[in-house]
Amino acid sequence: LSERLNKAIKNISGQGKLTEKNMNEMLKEVRLSLLEADVNYNVVKEFVENVKEKALGQEVMDSLNPGQMVVKIVRDEIQTLLGEEDAKINFKKQGITTLMMVGLQGTGKTTASAKIARYCKQKLAKRVLLVACDVVRPAAIEQLQTLGKSIDIEVFTLGAQTPAVETARQAMRYAADRQKDLVIFDTAGRLHIDDELMNELSEMKELVKPDDILLTVDAMTGQDIVTVAKEFNERLSITGLVVTKMDGDARGGGLLSVRSITNVPVLFVSSGEKVEDLEEFHPDRMADRILGMGDIVTLVEQAQEKLDMEVQQKTAKRMQQGVFTFNDLLDQFGQIQKMGSMQNMLKMIPGMGKMVNKIDDDQVNDSMKKNKAIILSMTPFERENPSCLKASRKNRIAKGAGVKVMDVNKLINQLEQMQMLTKVMNGGKMPNMNALSNM
Ligand code: GDP
Ligand code: MG
Repeated sequence: LSERLNKAIKNISGQGKLTEKNMNEMLKEVRLSLLEADVNYNVVKEFVENVKEKALGQEVMDSLNPGQMVVKIVRDEIQTLLGEEDAKINFKKQGITTLMMVGLQGTGKTTASAKIARYCKQKLAKRVLLVACDVVRPAAIEQLQTLGKSIDIEVFTLGAQTPAVETARQAMRYAADRQKDLVIFDTAGRLHIDDELMNELSEMKELVKPDDILLTVDAMTGQDIVTVAKEFNERLSITGLVVTKMDGDARGGGLLSVRSITNVPVLFVSSGEKVEDLEEFHPDRMADRILGMGDIVTLVEQAQEKLDMEVQQKTAKRMQQGVFTFNDLLDQFGQIQKMGSMQNMLKMIPGMGKMVNKIDDDQVNDSMKKNKAIILSMTPFERENPSCLKASRKNRIAKGAGVKVMDVNKLINQLEQMQMLTKVMNGGKMPNMNALSNM
């Protein structure tokens, strides 16, 4: 989409003024590039009319660089089409949230189910259950099980002999017994929409009463995407879209059409075969991406995530070597703050679920802030060599952090406990988590 548009922009930017004539030329290019990007004809028509109306109505027309202005209007219009705000999964305030994945065969339902499960577990600290309701496609159950294993998320199945609706029914009970937060139903697809599939999905919808029904649409399918989305929406009233295979050549044209025709938001974009290839959908960034401006913010976020992993790995390695200093503690505080809370962090550690209720997040936050201040008042040498902390140093640190010497002593104590913990862990025994919860 970008190349043609860029040329047109350059062209119009060279001219001092935005006139009806060069404006029309520009819009012609916009129209062509949208059509080339597989945007549905009717959507394009309406789009161009909206842009024209806005551009002509602009008072500032003479004073601005006309090219820039039109780009801005086009960009904003794309964003309006994509949705004004970031859409999220409709989590229930209490109880089990259910999410049904629907879509044609091969669009990426099963893959997306696992990706979303991983996302909700890691980012939102949810206890997730995946349910294998595709009993039609050979090996569909095994596919989900393999994915589930790779992300350490439980998969519920009653085998390919049990009807999908019955599997769903029992999965609900299973999830309730095990206090899951989120149940994701991976359903069967067909190569084409047919009544049998739709009836099965409707029946499942009646039973599960899903908080969200997400339709997976393959960004590579071009125009067909529109018919499919329309039909699924009419039969099931979908609540959101997951656009898959955005790693291909597709520039997002199909996405624009589907969004405009179903009028439901895009929640996620899937851009690869690996479980981590899932992005939250941000309309503003996608608008930039469609215009070829690059999705810098997403890149930065991904880099950030990798950085976090590196910090964790570094700490884990040091702990294995029996080293744990104030710097490691500081890293850990940072990670906990990123996770939102100690509770969230604990929920993600297998076997720590029971600890969660024992922790008062506010209290943890307060003492964490205090402890952080104390560590920051230490010199780099002191942070790495806790044993050098004698009375005079402690006094100075306490003053610097605005706390009592007692607080400094307490933190040193905790660090010593953590150091002991790392030794115990290296000995292969379960650590005593009281040391952690005191932090
Ligand atoms: P389902 O039939 O709807 O459940 O589709 P699957 O989840 O089994 O996916 C079909 C194929 O598409 C598999 O080979 C996936 O690895 C692949 N796939 C799914 N999502 C993506 C994606 O975002 N990018 C790419 N390149 N491949 C994908
Ligand atoms: Mg599948």
